[in-house]
Amino acid sequence: MSIPKTQKAVLFREHNGPLLYTDVPVPEPSDTEILIRLSYSGVCHSDLHAWRGDWPDPTILPLIGGHEGAGEVVAIGSAVKNFKVGDLAGVKWINRTCLTCEYCLRGEETCCMNQDISGYTVQGTFQQYVVADAIQAAKIPPGADLAEVAPLLCAGLTAYKALKKANLQQGEWCAIIGAGGGLGSYAVQFAKAMGFRVIAIDAGNKSQMIKDLGAEVFIDFTQCDDLAKEVERITDGGAHGVINFSVSSKAMNVGIKYVRTLGTFVIVGMPANAVIESNVGDHVNKQFNITASSVGTRAQMEDVLSFYSRGLVKSKIQVFPLSQLSKVYEMMEKNKLQGRAVVDNWR
Ligand code: NAD
Ligand code: ZN
Repeated sequence: MSIPKTQKAVLFREHNGPLLYTDVPVPEPSDTEILIRLSYSGVCHSDLHAWRGDWPDPTILPLIGGHEGAGEVVAIGSAVKNFKVGDLAGVKWINRTCLTCEYCLRGEETCCMNQDISGYTVQGTFQQYVVADAIQAAKIPPGADLAEVAPLLCAGLTAYKALKKANLQQGEWCAIIGAGGGLGSYAVQFAKAMGFRVIAIDAGNKSQMIKDLGAEVFIDFTQCDDLAKEVERITDGGAHGVINFSVSSKAMNVGIKYVRTLGTFVIVGMPANAVIESNVGDHVNKQFNITASSVGTRAQMEDVLSFYSRGLVKSKIQVFPLSQLSKVYEMMEKNKLQGRAVVDNWR
């Protein structure tokens, strides 16, 4: 396949600045990288945070965002052993890890101190061709539907690992805050597949989709006066695991109130400048855990793709042209998307 010199991308030069649909050079892979011709890219709320400049860690500028890209390998660097031209490959949030820092050595690659992040510290997937480190790129099974696989690369992976960190047993209650969003829509399905009882919390416009995904109980946070009391009533004492995927500090500060004694609260959503305040007496009385979760490892990525291939989780997607990324961000900010928005990199 011939590789063009230029391609379409969406980039911005300053935070909150125009999202320009424009021509940029096609990147060349280094010795350890692969070049992927992307078909689809999921749009994560983290991409919106990156555009807004919500977080203290700086992005590169100008930036091409995106970190859920699925496509076909069209070139490989001279040192690449694990991919060949024609393979299907995915680009994740973690584009490269150093393999040598304290955390990489312990197998905790999501904490790598020298990681490159797609669509944040290196150019991401809102372009037609992207380079990715071959070690961290995901192997996508042949014949997979690339629009459906794309959001598994961050949303699916992050939801899966967060559920592991909730440390639940079969039959226990798992409250999923933001259950109708990109991450939450996968979390509901993974939780069900793992044998947990799901209380899904989101706005009413997403209730049907969430129930279809298998939630046992749905609570519309916009209509519920006392969420903590309601969850405690339903679960007879609080949810064993509470995972926050919403972009709301308030939801987190309420969420830690309905964790069951000895249960676990998992932080995933990252609203700008968010702070959790909790009562020390509650901590001592209930001895519950507060932890956080960041994306997932390569091994967990394989698990996620296997769940998908076996039909245990489905991707709830709405497809838009890449050229309309700004419209997707607008809808995301207003919580109007159902599940995950995916962009077609060729429209
Ligand atoms: P999303 O916009 O698709 O989903 C957020 C959902 O939360 C929406 O369905 C929305 O309706 C719902 N919501 C809003 N306010 C709520 C409230 N008060 N109570 C309950 N639900 C509420 O976002 P996403 O792409 O799923 O990402 C969610 C968050 O997770 C973002 O902050 C993102 O940056 C973060 N994230 C973290 C990691 C990680 O590794 N920790 C990875 C990916 C994304
Ligand atoms: Zn993401």
